Amino acid sequence: MVKKILVLHTGGTIAMSEDENGAVAPGAENPLNQFKNPFGSEYELLIENIFNIPSPHMGPAEMLQLKKRIMEAYEKDQIDGVVITHGTDTLEETAYFLDLTVPLKIPIVLTGAMRSANEIGSDGLYNFKTAILTAASPEARGMGVLVVMNDEIHTARYVTKTHTTNVATFRTPTFGPIGLILRDEVRFFEKLLHHVSLPIDQVVDHVYLFKAYAGMDPELLEMAATSKTNGVVIEALGAGNLPPRVLSALEKLLALKIPVVLVSRSFNGIAQEVYAYPGGGVQLKQMGVTFCHGLNGQKARIKLLVGLSAGLSGKELATFVSEAIS
Ligand code: ASP
Repeated sequence: MVKKILVLHTGGTIAMSEDENGAVAPGAENPLNQFKNPFGSEYELLIENIFNIPSPHMGPAEMLQLKKRIMEAYEKDQIDGVVITHGTDTLEETAYFLDLTVPLKIPIVLTGAMRSANEIGSDGLYNFKTAILTAASPEARGMGVLVVMNDEIHTARYVTKTHTTNVATFRTPTFGPIGLILRDEVRFFEKLLHHVSLPIDQVVDHVYLFKAYAGMDPELLEMAATSKTNGVVIEALGAGNLPPRVLSALEKLLALKIPVVLVSRSFNGIAQEVYAYPGGGVQLKQMGVTFCHGLNGQKARIKLLVGLSAGLSGKELATFVSEAIS
């Protein structure tokens, strides 16, 4: 049976070319557009150039537009799957945003490229092909949003970009990929246990991400303690600790009922309340900080933003944001 796949090109290196000086930039036409249906008549591709932007230009408003377009195509065109081509810099954030907001079982697969269209060893067309194969795979149904790059299938929830230039940049620390592409075969060998999605129609702003460091200065956190701020995520140290210098800024944020979410800046493991010294996780938890288990900072920020955009607050918001591991 022919599989109908919606392809949304958004830009990124996969849509760019290198000039004679080696600088990589988007052109007027996405180089992928020259391939009308490169993967055979088993696939009907509905191709749209929804954006042509590098992914540092991508934000929650564009992510919401992607979500709305997918929902519309699902209702009107009975699509079997979706492939989104995207710049790799913020690909994991768009993927996780869609994972949290699109309540569909059809496969939704993001891919990109580390080498632009005319570079030697360009990986764009190959990644595009394996993303199509995955989006058409019955096994990919109900797996949540997936990221397919370099013959690996990762979950949107845990994948992260780990290298600035290597084609094997996308990794899932702690758990590894959940599937592989073996030549043209799509094979899954793991599955996440739980999946949540929240219906949202708009996105809030002023949700900030901070990173802790030895001797962290409190001033920037203090500046966030205003009524304009909707939420704060902090990449804390180790198992979930902060320098005591920032505790009074945290108190100010919490007194204003601004949700403060903690993850670890370590990319393996999860943040937990382990240490009982000043600034340690035990004290932070008692103060009212929400521990988010297993997400990196940028994903926790997306989760907080989605929860806030859905109108969650208080305990409900904390429960939604904290539960990731499963
Ligand atoms: N800077 C590019 C982007 O994210 C990188 C890429 O696509 O690989 O748009």
